[in-house]
Amino acid sequence: MMIACPCCLSGATRRVVLTPSMPVNPCILVRSAKASCDTVRRPIDLHGCADCGFLWNAAFDETVVTYDQTYEGTQSHSAYFQRYLQQTAAAWSAELGPDVDAILEVGCGQGEFLDVLADKTKARLVGYDPAYRQGGLRRAAINPERLPASPKERFPALVNRMTLEHIADPFTFVSHMAEWLTDDGCLVTQVPNAERMVTNMLYCDLIYEHVNYFNAFALVRLFERAGFENNTCHLSYDNQHLTVFSRRSPKNFGSDKVIASQAFDAFSAAISTFRDDWSDRLARIHDTGSDVFIWGAGSRATTFINALRNPEMIAGAIDINPNRTGTFVQGTACETHLPEILRNRANVKVIAMNPIYATEISCKLREISSCAELIS
Ligand SMILES: [Zn+2]
Repeated sequence: MMIACPCCLSGATRRVVLTPSMPVNPCILVRSAKASCDTVRRPIDLHGCADCGFLWNAAFDETVVTYDQTYEGTQSHSAYFQRYLQQTAAAWSAELGPDVDAILEVGCGQGEFLDVLADKTKARLVGYDPAYRQGGLRRAAINPERLPASPKERFPALVNRMTLEHIADPFTFVSHMAEWLTDDGCLVTQVPNAERMVTNMLYCDLIYEHVNYFNAFALVRLFERAGFENNTCHLSYDNQHLTVFSRRSPKNFGSDKVIASQAFDAFSAAISTFRDDWSDRLARIHDTGSDVFIWGAGSRATTFINALRNPEMIAGAIDINPNRTGTFVQGTACETHLPEILRNRANVKVIAMNPIYATEISCKLREISSCAELIS
């Protein structure tokens, strides 16, 4: 059966990877090993489009994915990430201009970006997110719900960060967000850059709650279908994040670079050997008598440990977010600790789940007099 590409509608699509079952809610906090091991699992049936390079889980089941107040998506406990949020807010408010008087963020999480944006713009700030639970924001007004079906008002700027990759029907969602925009308004969309995942063969970037894996070319095709003719793409966060500023005015600076279909084959081959490669590597480290911890207990950690034959060889997960302490990496009995557990411990190796934090992790290890060795 031919499945049309959800981005560009091409029929030139095919299966690229079918993963083993993996936990569907890697960001939901679980506080017992049993609940963690009993978690709901599904495979990812990753399809790809030869015409635009888009990848998506053709078997995605949104009924098993939970976004409520037990969802822990923040990375804001990292100083590195805080600086990145500051830079992003400054760049986006400069791009939107000083005259923008209201900004709507869809999928705003706990409002950390709106709170940073409050220092960079005079605009009124509004957010929507069903996982929102806290107060304590300076002036953003956040609604703890999904974006309502019919617009309550129109905004000159609408931003969505790390949201569109979670949506089963991205075209309908983009069209829906467009209804909340004024005619000359700007839609700012930030998603993980899947071109990096494919070219660097990053198995741990496959996460069940991500239905969609966009590259710049595919994302611009999607926005063009939704009536945005002027799309400007930027990469940031060590090329991990892809941002597009979309307007309806006809002037296109969009990407003309597409992921070659052959890259899908290399990606698929790398993923098929990931389980054996890492299980063998872990066993060799374990044989030397070292304890192995992973640094980061979120989505990538969930994909990583659940892919292993020998997950019991991971001694624990480290996460600087205190909300995660005492929780378990979904699908496993691997408990999460603060870095202090490594204080003065010898013979420890640490695997960073995201290399962008390598410097920050090394600093933290020195700070607590840990001799742990960081491996990639
Ligand atoms: Zn396509």
